[in-house]
Formats: sequence, C-alpha cells, structure tokens
Amino acid sequence: MRSVYTKTVQEIGFLRENNQLVADTLAYIATLVEPGVRTDMLDAKAEEYIRDHGALPGFKGYDGFPFTLCISVNDVVVHGFPGDYVLKEGDIVSIDCGTLMHGFYGDSAYTFAVGEISQENKALLRTTRESLDLAIQKIETGWRIGDIGATIQDYAESRGYGIVREMVGHGLGRDMHEEPEVPNYGRRGHGKLIIPNLVLCIEPMVTMGRRNIFVDRDGWTVRTVDRKNAAHFEKAIFIRQDGRAEELTSYVGIEAKLKEKGFWIS
Ligand code: MG
Ligand code: MG
Repeated sequence: MRSVYTKTVQEIGFLRENNQLVADTLAYIATLVEPGVRTDMLDAKAEEYIRDHGALPGFKGYDGFPFTLCISVNDVVVHGFPGDYVLKEGDIVSIDCGTLMHGFYGDSAYTFAVGEISQENKALLRTTRESLDLAIQKIETGWRIGDIGATIQDYAESRGYGIVREMVGHGLGRDMHEEPEVPNYGRRGHGKLIIPNLVLCIEPMVTMGRRNIFVDRDGWTVRTVDRKNAAHFEKAIFIRQDGRAEELTSYVGIEAKLKEKGFWIS
C-alpha cells in the first residue's frame, strides 16, 4: 500500500467519475440479476459496459484476479469467481466492481437479492447496508479510522451478526488499495485522523453466523467457515473541507432498476 495522501480537486473529480461508472455498471448489472442467469454472463456484460464507457475493468489482472467482477453468492463473503453457477431464487449475491480511468480507480459493491429471498436474508442485507450508511453519515471533524469501524461493528454485532476481521476497507486513488486500511471493527478515538481530501472505500462484510472465514482452493474465494450467508456493501467517499463525508458512489441508479423489477428490499 502507498502511504496516506490526500487528493487534489482534480483527482477527486477523476475518482468521482470512476465510481460513478462503477455505480452505472452495477445499475446495468442490476437489470440482469435474476434466477436462471449464469454469473460469467454478468461478468462479460460488465466488462463490455466498462470498456464501452472508456475505462478498463479495474479488477482484471489486479494482483492476478482473472475477472471484471467479484461475484460472491450466499456463503461467499468476497472475491468469488464468476463462472457456470446459475443464480437461483432466494440467493443473495454480492457484486463488487472496479474501474480504471484517468489513472485512478473506482471500487464499489452491492449485495443483490435474487428474486424473493428469506426474511433473515433481507435482515442481513438491511443491516449491512445500514451499518455502512450510518458510518458515512456520522463522519465529522475529529473522527479517526477507529470511529468508522466501531460504528459499523456496534451496529451489526448488537443485532447478532458477525463482522469479518481479515478483510478491510482502504484508501482509494492511483492504487486500488492505498493506506489507510479501514477495518469494519475498532475502538472509538483510535487510529489515523480522518482529514479533508482523503478518499476511502468503506466496505462492511457482515455474517449471519460466526465471523470466521477461509479461502477456497482457487486462492481467491472467501467463504464463511460455518457456511452461513454473508453480505457486503462498499462505497467510496471523500472527506470535504467541513469534515463530513460525501459519497462518490451512489446507489440511486441501482435501486431505481431494482424497484422497476420489484427486486428492491426496503
Ligand atoms: Mg470492492
Ligand atoms: Mg474495496
């Protein structure tokens, strides 16, 4: 990881453009996620969409990752490979997408419901999403990295969920994973100070059962040890001069598509 550095106005503009393209790609993919669809088809469509919009798929070849999307179904937490798996009614699927344009990265994720899902899966998705939004809304001058983690951790754990420890959020810029690391757990008042013009990806990974994970034989796919479901939402943010966070990733387009399909869970 590079050392922490803040971004210029122009660089924040590039990062905004990248993360908007990621959100647009995910909104397009949202129209395709449904029972009967193979995950490698989603990957191919996302790659085509990103290239058609003048960017490169940010994940493809990054540290040797072979695909455009990380597609993580049910007990897969993150970094799942697209392939011949056919989505079925009741699945939950985290789709993580990256772009590279103007020398900067975009990186955001959304966990989709495939058709009608169980009440417990809905609650898992809501809690994960709400923990992310709560942390973003609360950021203010004087906050440290530990305050973000503690906010997410308190929210999820008080509702009986697990927080994955081994995988964390990160700074975003010319590299996809810059300092500082942004854990989804922590202690209030600890860690690096959050300062204006910092760009961060916050990405809670929340488990329905125990928080323990393992990596599959493919070297990438991260699963829960107890094989219970996990959810993952990720947004890029930047810190304004007033110390508050502004989202570079908008879910508005994604959720408009989900509402049209009747797949949106409030
Ligand atoms: Mg990501
Ligand atoms: Mg990330």
